[in-house]
Amino acid sequence: MVISSKTHVALLASPGSGHLIPVVELAKRLAAHHELTITIFAVTPSVHRAEDEIYGSAISSWRGVINTVILPTETQNFPSKQSFIPTLLDMMRDALPALRSAINGMKNKPIALIVDQFSTEAIKTIAQEFNMFKYVFIASNAMFLSYNLYLPHVDKVVNRDEPFYIPGCEPIPGEDLLELTFIPDERPYKDFVRMGYDIAAVDGILVNTWDDLEAKTLLAFKDLRFMKEIAKAPVYPIGPVVRTGEPKGLKPELIKWLDRQPNESVVYVSFGSGGTISAQQTIELAMGLELSKQRFIWVIRPPIENDNAGSLFKSMHGEGGLSKYLPDGFVDRTHEVGFIVPMWAPQDEILPHRSIGAFVCHCGWNSTLESIVNGVPIIAWPLYAEQKMNATMLVNNLGIAVRSHVKPSMELVERGEIAKMVRRVMVDKEGIGIRTRVNELKASANKALSEGGSSYNALSEVVKKIVS
Ligand code: UDP
Repeated sequence: MVISSKTHVALLASPGSGHLIPVVELAKRLAAHHELTITIFAVTPSVHRAEDEIYGSAISSWRGVINTVILPTETQNFPSKQSFIPTLLDMMRDALPALRSAINGMKNKPIALIVDQFSTEAIKTIAQEFNMFKYVFIASNAMFLSYNLYLPHVDKVVNRDEPFYIPGCEPIPGEDLLELTFIPDERPYKDFVRMGYDIAAVDGILVNTWDDLEAKTLLAFKDLRFMKEIAKAPVYPIGPVVRTGEPKGLKPELIKWLDRQPNESVVYVSFGSGGTISAQQTIELAMGLELSKQRFIWVIRPPIENDNAGSLFKSMHGEGGLSKYLPDGFVDRTHEVGFIVPMWAPQDEILPHRSIGAFVCHCGWNSTLESIVNGVPIIAWPLYAEQKMNATMLVNNLGIAVRSHVKPSMELVERGEIAKMVRRVMVDKEGIGIRTRVNELKASANKALSEGGSSYNALSEVVKKIVS
């Protein structure tokens, strides 16, 4: 690998497309705006097709500026019964020796290490050993950052039935918090407490949000005495850092199909890189989409019982025969109005398409931002991690989503309820207001990113500190 003599910055991504994509996009943003050379270190359990594309997009457009180094790890090396956060952190710890030797072998060593939220151990070890600037990139929002910084200072057991007050945020219903919040004796909670301390101690915290989107929370980092005491590091809202659909050669059949549909007429259904639903929920979702009488694209995976994150860290290679999980006759009845995609879809090409009218979304933060920057209203279907907190924000604070009172991660959402939510956005008057608000946020995102905008300036400030 040839690394130029320009100032060299390294980024470290933890496993999962939802972690790799924003890191790759941040690398591109840095490469586009500044005189830097970048290395992306990506810890990955198996390089599957989707991740190949993600690396590919970084390398092909930024050859010689962005380099990628894969640090392999395997999920099966870790206890199979533990939840995904400890597994993620174990994989990151496992990759540290390979990261150290890769950096050791570089002639022009990186002077700064920007890690994602789950990679903070590398800050205390590798960045410290090589005397690098230490930054964390929170690929989620300021609310989640505040939650994580605050968690080490929560001094009582959190009650699921009461609202929870995160500094600088609107109260969150207890039941929407991350499950780990209620079990302080277990490892995921302790991991988050450690991450909270680690994040608080870096040179700067980059967060994938922007001033107008979370003004109150971002202000709290500067103005709330409590926040200033627990996190000394400055917070830089640099978002939205998202993929913008780059044409990938031949137009996929799916995009050709979208080209034939009327404007804003198609509901896109996807649960991110890790989300899975049960067999019965798959049937209800199919029937609900049919009942809504709206066009749809649905990224479908084999159903998994009692595991909302069942496809995390798994291969996304296309799988045939998924129609056996759908109701009898569904594919035939809907073939004119529906498009089923097995396993993984080119979301960065789908959401910007003029035909997309709404997104049934698991509220992962990348997908949420991709919906906002494309002006697409959301039908919230949160499943795990901080997704329920995000859904609360989208519905209550931002008014850009609808959500059922039935909790999709815990209960069965029935077909009638699904059809109702889809029609609220696609057909009812309520949808007009939601669409207007999401388009306002789209405009404010563009403004923040444009030269002289708040996010543009925040990233420039970070780079200035690194290169000066
Ligand atoms: N994604 C995609 N195709 C799919 C599913 C997901 O391109 O079929 C991308 C999506 O565009 C987003 C990322 O994978 O950039 C998922 O990140 P998110 O934060 O939304 O959810 P996570 O997968 O981390 O839960």
